[in-house]
Amino acid sequence: MKKYKNILNSVDKCDNFLLTTHVSPDGDGIGSLLGLKYILQLYADKIDLVLDDSVPEYLKFLSGTEDIYLYDEFDKTENRIDYDLVFVVDCGDLDRTGNVVNLISEDSKIINIDHHDDNQEYGSYNYVDSTVSSTGELIYDLAVELGANFKRDFGIAIAAAIITDTGNFKFSNTTSKAHRIIADMLELGIDTEKIIREVYENENYSGLKLKGSVLSNLHLAGEENISWASVSQKDLNHFQADWDDTEGLVNSIRSVKGVEVGVLFKEMAEDKIKVSLRSNEYFAVNEFAHQFEGGGHPRAAGCTIMASLAEVEEKVISKLESELGFNN
Ligand code: AMP
Ligand code: MN
Ligand code: MN
Repeated sequence: MKKYKNILNSVDKCDNFLLTTHVSPDGDGIGSLLGLKYILQLYADKIDLVLDDSVPEYLKFLSGTEDIYLYDEFDKTENRIDYDLVFVVDCGDLDRTGNVVNLISEDSKIINIDHHDDNQEYGSYNYVDSTVSSTGELIYDLAVELGANFKRDFGIAIAAAIITDTGNFKFSNTTSKAHRIIADMLELGIDTEKIIREVYENENYSGLKLKGSVLSNLHLAGEENISWASVSQKDLNHFQADWDDTEGLVNSIRSVKGVEVGVLFKEMAEDKIKVSLRSNEYFAVNEFAHQFEGGGHPRAAGCTIMASLAEVEEKVISKLESELGFNN
């Protein structure tokens, strides 16, 4: 039984595709998009990749990212059409595509390919599997089923998706299959070490100094079961850094010995705080984030709360303390 037969039937009938992923795109979103583009190129000439936010600096080494449109620029071009088929990857909720949702017409068929267990199944066809490491793993399966010939750039995109979403095979979503796919990529001659270096060991001087400063203001709460830190607009300006530079920081926060939950608060604007949550062993941070209209995975989730930085810190940390059983 072919798992992706509806995709095959749809791509055969359609002439133009729109591909997108979630706001604040990450390696899995971008890698999956690019991997999917390489597969779909066999079926159509018009394939537009459009995102609400720009591709982060640390992913620009992936070839093909230069052809990804930013919604604000794309919307003004004459390129815009009513797409037959829209692929949304690594995105649990259609609203998380941001403004790109405006490019989807009522007649467009949506194909939802994702691994968030809180996925809203908003597609005409939904391929949601929360047991896989990453959406990249599903795109790899799709390529195998369609008999696509793996090219180098496809392999690099899928390897980047898997490597970033598993944090270099460190996170609990790491599967044997994720390792097997990377083994295939190594056999294809793909330099995974270079991907890892590009993503994790390519820090901006100013960004690394910002991280140092944030970590030197690390806090503990909930009888040392919670560690947290914040990045304010002032910090960002002081170090002349940008949000891309905070990538991975929440993992350092979560790595304190004995801590279950690590939290990073990011002051995106006055009264708009993005909260990144990570846990180590048992606490379901996605369920916690749902209470603030956010979501994600059991060990990695996020939400955005509209209040001042100090208010959000207070509210989130005291709620976490009480949910973890430390009522102060
Ligand atoms: P982040 O902390 O931004 O790296 O996000 C960690 C995980 O949570 C990713 O799977 C995100 O897609 C998800 N996530 C982050 N923010 C939100 C949100 N506001 N709503 C739903 N999911 C989110
Ligand atoms: Mn993602
Ligand atoms: Mn993902």
